[in-house]
Amino acid sequence: MADKRIFNFSAGPSMLPEEVLRTASEQMLNYKGSGMSVMEMSHRSSAYDQIIKEAQRRLRALLQIPDNYKVLFLQGGASTQFSAIPMNLLRSGSADYVITGHFANLAYKEATKYGAIQVAGSTQEENFSRIPTQEELQLRKDADYVYLCSNNTIYGTQWKYVPQTQGVPIVADMSSDILSRTIDVSQYGLIFAGAQKNMGIAGVTVVIVREDLLGFQLAGTPTMLNYQIMADKDSMYNTPPTYAIYILGLVLEWIERQGGLEAIEARNERKAKLLYDYLDSSTFYQAAAQKQDRSLMNVTFCTPSKELDALFVSESIKAGMSNLKGHRAVGGIRASIYNAMPMEGVEHLVAFMKAFEATNGGR
Ligand SMILES: *Cc1c(COP(=O)(O)O)cnc(C)c1O
Repeated sequence: MADKRIFNFSAGPSMLPEEVLRTASEQMLNYKGSGMSVMEMSHRSSAYDQIIKEAQRRLRALLQIPDNYKVLFLQGGASTQFSAIPMNLLRSGSADYVITGHFANLAYKEATKYGAIQVAGSTQEENFSRIPTQEELQLRKDADYVYLCSNNTIYGTQWKYVPQTQGVPIVADMSSDILSRTIDVSQYGLIFAGAQKNMGIAGVTVVIVREDLLGFQLAGTPTMLNYQIMADKDSMYNTPPTYAIYILGLVLEWIERQGGLEAIEARNERKAKLLYDYLDSSTFYQAAAQKQDRSLMNVTFCTPSKELDALFVSESIKAGMSNLKGHRAVGGIRASIYNAMPMEGVEHLVAFMKAFEATNGGR
């Protein structure tokens, strides 16, 4: 069965390390002698208590999360946080949003239901092909928070700097680049990420929030969206997404075995460089994102025509690769090369791109 696996370039849900899938399959029927699957376990059992605590411990160690931050394992996907963030953090009623793509825009629109939300910067007119510079940002000193999306999954851009905000907490959607590089958590007020891009499977959303920001939720905030309650209950107010948290734990363990985030980051840089260097050397392919802001996770590009883009995608499937079709907002091709994508997958793609260019370049 394993020999039939293909290189899956999906933007999310996306590929998992094969070792993680193997461990999960070995433990499927009988988790560590418990006589049952993790799927069948009470979330209040001691076996499960260990799973969730270990997942949190590993995440804290890998990201070096300071003690004054809470880690929450929530449900509803990253999109639910688009509502929970303003409900919990709008203590005086205003926030600044930087619009760098589809998901930042959705978060902005949702937040406008709850307060005086301002666009602090946007690259929409350039089809989100870059990230605004610090100088372009219009930030209010008295905003409750500044919102940004650290990696724009659809457009293939990534923040390469953390903006100066004069003490205003930064809220970052890291759904598609969390654990891909080292970060300084203390530069953020809140970090959140759905697991299914780079951390595991759909079902769990991680929220990392500075303690002093808790307790100011708007009246009427639903209990399930109330960070203070979820923090007080250690994410166990109700049944947490038990299996997704277990898989997250296995992925974190795998990252440790790779040498931690420094090693993962170095490997991600090598993978992306191979692809971008080839794109830059080719007159056939055109990269979508501007050079200085290119994502190391989602590489967006196109061939000279829509017809060739479509042919590229259909031929790539025959060559053992899947999900290379770009999002309709950008068109062309998108290769998502998250942590679990091995170097061989990127080498395979580049070899295919060269052959495709050689065959179709003269048209
Ligand atoms: C996928 C994605 C989302 C949406 O995640 P859901 O879990 O489907 O709600 C939000 N933000 C970013 C950056 C994403 O890549």
